[in-house]
Amino acid sequence: PAPLVDIRDLTIRFTGERTVHAVNGVSLSLGEGEVLGLLGESGSGKSVTMRALMRLLPKRRSVISGSVHVAGQDVLAMDDATLSDFRGRTVSMIFQEPALALDPVYTIGRQISESVMRHEGASQRDATARALEMLELVRIPSAKRRLDAYPHEMSGGMRQRAMIALALACRPKILLADEPTTALDATVQIQILLLLRELQREMGMSVIFVTHDIGVAIEICDQVAVMYAGQIVETGTLGEIVRTPRHPYPRGLLASTVHGAARGARLETIPGTPPSLDKAPVACSFAPRCAYAQPRCTAAPPPYVHLGPGRDVRCILAETPVPVN
Ligand code: SF4
Ligand code: MG
Repeated sequence: PAPLVDIRDLTIRFTGERTVHAVNGVSLSLGEGEVLGLLGESGSGKSVTMRALMRLLPKRRSVISGSVHVAGQDVLAMDDATLSDFRGRTVSMIFQEPALALDPVYTIGRQISESVMRHEGASQRDATARALEMLELVRIPSAKRRLDAYPHEMSGGMRQRAMIALALACRPKILLADEPTTALDATVQIQILLLLRELQREMGMSVIFVTHDIGVAIEICDQVAVMYAGQIVETGTLGEIVRTPRHPYPRGLLASTVHGAARGARLETIPGTPPSLDKAPVACSFAPRCAYAQPRCTAAPPPYVHLGPGRDVRCILAETPVPVN
């Protein structure tokens, strides 16, 4: 059967005062109940790829090619009515900043119940019951009282839970989580990650978890795809990426952290900066930062080497075992 999410050769360019080649030939697939970590530093194209999956990109400024299928539906070809049904019911998204999802002028209960009424045609009474059920599901204490709370009346961690409740209210098949715990302090962060993991299991949904923090990916993901400069440079199981990374980018990061991958081990810690993305890649984009770079790395794009099921590496050294320090 076709995977639940099937992205093929997705390329996204933004036009305006300058052109940005934000995503350059990304292919990704995700099965039912899988949790995929999309790992990369800021500007690597993670969020843009996720936005394409929900078709949330600015229409007039983005040039998109390739294909995006979700649950058998062609997302890039959907009409507006199908799209608004699709968002929330098939795919939902949560963000670092709950303000992007929660409306400050309505209570949490009302926001959840309106979403349920709109998407499922539920009665006010059933929708309110669902809102309560959702607040309990995300372990908000005194849930019944919290139905009448406004977002600003909640703590950061509580708002994050309310946003999750809203995103999951119509039981989507897929949850896109874009750095949802990045702004939270460490204790709250781990609570939210554990909650997401539990909800994922209880509801059997698939999750794509976007993060720049390998330690966060370790808490929650089964599969990992590492992005750099709008391309996927390595995919594998979490164990493969953490224990036997092949691409110099994740390898450099893992070698430079004491425990391999402590929480807070950010991909930004590798010296150098990513390229400007003002043109499509004509060579290995990582070459300026790569300790193993050779003349051929800048002469042509490196091959995307398929090493096994779900295991791909974009590097001339993909098949050469290199000692990790
Ligand atoms: Fe480094 Fe060359 Fe591999 Fe790019 S292709 S990551 S420059 S070794
Ligand atoms: Mg982002």
